[in-house]
Amino acid sequence: MSGTLQLTGGWIEVVAGVMFSGKSEELIRRVRRAMIAKKRVQVFKSHLDDRYAGGIHAVGSHDGRTIEAIPVDSARQIALRLDPMAQVIAVDEVQFLDAGIVALANDLAARGRRVILAGTDTDFRGEPFGMMPQLMCVAEVVDKLHAICVRCGAPACRNQRLIDGRPAAYDSPVVMVGGADSYEARCRACHDVAPPAGGGQLSLA
Ligand code: ADP
Ligand code: ZN
Repeated sequence: MSGTLQLTGGWIEVVAGVMFSGKSEELIRRVRRAMIAKKRVQVFKSHLDDRYAGGIHAVGSHDGRTIEAIPVDSARQIALRLDPMAQVIAVDEVQFLDAGIVALANDLAARGRRVILAGTDTDFRGEPFGMMPQLMCVAEVVDKLHAICVRCGAPACRNQRLIDGRPAAYDSPVVMVGGADSYEARCRACHDVAPPAGGGQLSLA
């Protein structure tokens, strides 16, 4: 955990940032250290994301490191599969989860658990993603990580979605894992969103 803060009892840590910013690496690092400290740790991840080695039963980082994780697609599934003895509960790709994750994280922290949540804080449009804003508010500790902009080398804080090499339209779906599209890490200046493709008449006035 960052800083010199000494937390006792339960608390929430959020690791936020764009894709490729090292959130999964950081989650894996914290989980491994908790295990070395002989804590009982349980790791979950949204199963919308099965891009990496180990498939849906692992948290994988873009550099290939993995740890085992339980795939879930709702906060309720986490609650149902919770190990009552777990002292540390980590969730990766938390931006895909429903509003129930906020109450669940608060409840776990209130019951003395260390809750580690990693997620992409902005969608491809650069707007807040899912419950990330709420989670960042209720957390004791927030670390916002940056990738490297593939265009200019500056710190990257935006997910650039490309479809056939072109910036995706503003009204394309927020959740789009894999498929024909691809993502790049970019800075604010290099980030590009195309005007709405369907419906919205573009005013050039
Ligand atoms: P996240 O969970 O935030 O998507 P990961 O932990 O999976 O990030 O991956 C981080 C790793 O991605 C970096 O250590 C680096 O090896 C790799 N990487 C690939 N592209 C970039 C980029 N544009 N900026 C920074 N790291 C990148
Ligand atoms: Zn840039």
